[in-house]
Amino acid sequence: MAIARVALDVPLESLFDYRTGGDFAPVPGQLVVVPFGRRRDVGVVVELAERSEIADARLRRIERILPLDPLPQNLLALTRFCSDYYHYPFGQALLSALPSVIRRAHYSGPKQQWEYALTPAGRELRADRFPPAAAVKRRLLAALFTSAVIGQAQARALSARAPALLQQWMEAGWVEKRLATVASPAAPVSRSEQGPELTGEQRHAVEKVSATFGTFSPWLLDGVTGSGKTEVYFRLIEAAVARGSQSLLMVPEINLTPQLEARFLQRFPGVRLVSLHSRLSDGERCERWLAAFAGDAKVVLGTRLSVFTPLPRLGLVIVDEEHDASFKQQEGLRYSARDLAVFMARQRRVPIVLGSATPALESYHNARSGRFGHLHLSTRPAASPPKIRLIETRAARQTHGMSEPLLQAIRERLARGEQSLVFLNRRGFAPALVCGACGWAAQCSRCAARLVWHLRAARLRCHYCGHEEHLPSACPDCGNQDLKGLGQGTQRLEEALAGIFPGARILRIDRDSTRRKRSWQAMRDDIHAQRVDILVGTQMLAKGHDFPKLTLVAIVNPDSALFSADFRAAEKLFQQLMQVAGRAGRADLPGEALVQTQFPAHPLYQALLRQDYRAFADELLAERERSGFPPFVYQALLRAEALSERAVMDFLAQAGRRAAGHDKDVTLYDPVPAAIARVAGHHRAHLLVQSSSRGDLQRFLTNWFPALAQKKAHRVRWSIDVDPLEL
Ligand code: ADP
Ligand code: ZN
Ligand code: ZN
Repeated sequence: MAIARVALDVPLESLFDYRTGGDFAPVPGQLVVVPFGRRRDVGVVVELAERSEIADARLRRIERILPLDPLPQNLLALTRFCSDYYHYPFGQALLSALPSVIRRAHYSGPKQQWEYALTPAGRELRADRFPPAAAVKRRLLAALFTSAVIGQAQARALSARAPALLQQWMEAGWVEKRLATVASPAAPVSRSEQGPELTGEQRHAVEKVSATFGTFSPWLLDGVTGSGKTEVYFRLIEAAVARGSQSLLMVPEINLTPQLEARFLQRFPGVRLVSLHSRLSDGERCERWLAAFAGDAKVVLGTRLSVFTPLPRLGLVIVDEEHDASFKQQEGLRYSARDLAVFMARQRRVPIVLGSATPALESYHNARSGRFGHLHLSTRPAASPPKIRLIETRAARQTHGMSEPLLQAIRERLARGEQSLVFLNRRGFAPALVCGACGWAAQCSRCAARLVWHLRAARLRCHYCGHEEHLPSACPDCGNQDLKGLGQGTQRLEEALAGIFPGARILRIDRDSTRRKRSWQAMRDDIHAQRVDILVGTQMLAKGHDFPKLTLVAIVNPDSALFSADFRAAEKLFQQLMQVAGRAGRADLPGEALVQTQFPAHPLYQALLRQDYRAFADELLAERERSGFPPFVYQALLRAEALSERAVMDFLAQAGRRAAGHDKDVTLYDPVPAAIARVAGHHRAHLLVQSSSRGDLQRFLTNWFPALAQKKAHRVRWSIDVDPLEL
């Protein structure tokens, strides 16, 4: 009798045994429907066995095999590694990475997709058929001409209006649609738009990495903003496509995908690219995932979850903005997609390029010590570097937190018809609502945090648990009606700027203003079409965006991060400032970045002035080495939370005692409350474990874990965070 050992989406380490035979002879990797308790569940066959520990009579049967190719062994192996390393149940890790559509017991195979091509009548159309203002029509027509057929997803990527246009053009007899073939032959790389001639450094980078196709070879592409890293990625992908392989291009943020996708399609209209991120519908996600799995999609562009895409012909991995904290998942399976990508590249024997203007110190250290190849792009081929200027604010008069030189700089941009970005990393109107009479401050009842005043909605919001309440009309403690907003958020800055520059068109971009699905794209279009003069935004704007008319970046209040208890704070601040400063002056117009600070002499700002990340990173690394912080040691956090503070601290204290007597090179620290000690009514604390050896730390965690799981931790939720980014 044959037994299939099946992984299910349950929080247990074990696999589950099922009887096979008859019509059902699954192979490892296959998705199957099995009875589980009273449910029917979709699981993945991980291995086959001759016999089971379970008594014959109790063994249940596989009910169905889903109509899908078995998942590749390398995906199971990657998930196995991930599950072991991050100490998270294998079945949950595996199943949660699959599109939800194929996790349904009644899944019946891929839906048919349409693709569109010009009819002979359509081919008669001339490029100037549409006026220049009809940009979408022009782009769509150009895409149809250059790539012969375009798919639904490709059309949508071109513009939200493209599908409707295709419909119209079909009615006009210019376009016809047909069913897409699932495995279309590898399209030749047809370049519609010639890329720029590479600089010497770019060419060197492309040559070095290309020479390592077919082998595991990790590279740090260390290039200032605007130095043409994306161009290097494109050339490498082009070379990979020419070899018939697939490329995975990972970006930290969903908002970066449309821009990159459009740029790619313009250059390589014949190459099938799919983007995978969290904002897709279930159907879209599944369709794209299947295209990747079939080897049909030559390029997968995605956020962190895309590292788990089955890519049968993987030849190249690229992680853009590799320093970005979004690559680390902060809940559930707390994996680092960047680190997993490196593991995967080794496993699949392919080169991996980690690109950044401000590499994570971990990656920088790897490059310095020779574990990664180090490639440099030190100049901007298409623009001069932004000028950075510090504005000392201790003595300066300020209007709503903005100094006169800063306002003057904005004024000049307005006069020249250029755009400014005012950067402040705090959403809302004011971070606190206080009573001037008695000192009361609006506090979230469920969190150890202040409520943030949101002006438009006239509400107080908690940025930790999402709790909202009405703005009180008077102080609940003393009745004083004159409540004040303390400090500054993006809404208040927006309002202040509107008062100072009444004629200017101001656009605020933060998580509040871009919540709706299409709004970010619409905003980007507005910025590009110069319907905006001043942008007010948070870190959402700091990453990778390219706005040709933006020549001024004004950074309002970054000082607080200088005094954070987090040992990574300086690294993060510097990265963020370099990134956001890099938004200025990308095209032919020179850019300027102004930083308002009370501490212009601080070494961080001095390094920023010189735009010398490397020197600064060297210094930070030396300091980390002296004080024994990562990347010179390895850390894990045992995180716990519960309604009772006592229960949390007791749990952690006991966990610490259970670890006593271990003989490895591992240090356990005392439990401490988290930085935000209470969220949504739950007290949170953690215990830090550290070792100078990754292996020792892993062995320690593996032994410790069962002891933790075994203890009846009453109403305490806990998890292990390996290589934590936030303490
Ligand atoms: P990064 O990804 O490093 O921020 P990009 O690849 O976006 O930089 O390049 C920045 C700008 O420079 C883009 O407008 C790009 O078209 C242009 N560019 C890149 N490489 C070259 C080159 N070799 N010659 C001229 N322009 C280039
Ligand atoms: Zn009061
Ligand atoms: Zn709250």
